[in-house]
Amino acid sequence: MKVVLVTGASRGIGREIAIELANKGYKVIANYNKSEERALQLKEENPSIDIYKTDVSEREEVKQMIQYILNRYEKIDVLINNAGIAEANIFTDVTDQEWDKMIKNNLYSVFCTTQEVLPCMIHRKEGCIINISSIFGIVGASCESIYSISKAGIDAMTKSLAKELGPSNIRVNSIAPGMIDTEMNNNLTIEDKKNIAEETPLGRIGKTSDIAKCINWLIEDEFTTGQIISINGGWVIT
Ligand code: NAP
Repeated sequence: MKVVLVTGASRGIGREIAIELANKGYKVIANYNKSEERALQLKEENPSIDIYKTDVSEREEVKQMIQYILNRYEKIDVLINNAGIAEANIFTDVTDQEWDKMIKNNLYSVFCTTQEVLPCMIHRKEGCIINISSIFGIVGASCESIYSISKAGIDAMTKSLAKELGPSNIRVNSIAPGMIDTEMNNNLTIEDKKNIAEETPLGRIGKTSDIAKCINWLIEDEFTTGQIISINGGWVIT
């Protein structure tokens, strides 16, 4: 049975991915940080899922989580680096603290978790890593420059690691979603979302299941690596 670690799975996209993969028969470890109640609810509704509290921006906590999984299941086949935060501010007002928080939560966390998982994958000469970046990492976003920088960094990591780890039979890809209907976009009004849907050739904003379906495919696939797959209904075509 494939063992899959999904970071940031208490809510939104990560939660959907965890449920989808558990339903497919994978052993899923759903990581969460602050949303304990939501994680417990996920476990109650999906008993086969293990939940594990870790702040993935803290090295020691990440080490402990990976050790827990390896002690229990002896391997990690798939790592899905999904956890992330979003904050908006105009560039000239961004403080050093805001910069550090964003880079630590969105980029360092991916660096750190991937580093801790890799020895096991390299040893087994097998693995699949999927990073959730963002369309904003590709095209940039006004007033979300630091978020965009963190996501562009993830995509650069994806491409570099695909080259470095291909000979170890480890595939590394990014999914760069467009607008997906989750709590991350709670700052948008219904009108904002309607406008984005109208600008989108497929006529709607994304659902968490749109991302989960692609994850499923990427896990099963054997010859895709180093790719940034943008799922956005045609909202942005590069
Ligand atoms: P969300 O609903 O706000 O959920 C974010 C998840 O990340 C939560 O489960 C949260 O866990 C977790 N998380 C954040 N920081 C963490 C940390 N340090 N350690 C562990 N978990 C942490 O957001 P979402 O929309 O599902 O976003 C998921 C990913 O997709 C993010 O990387 C986001 O940037 C990316 N994305 C989203 C969109 C969109 O439109 N929604 C578009 C492009 C990319 P706790 O609540 O338990 O702390």
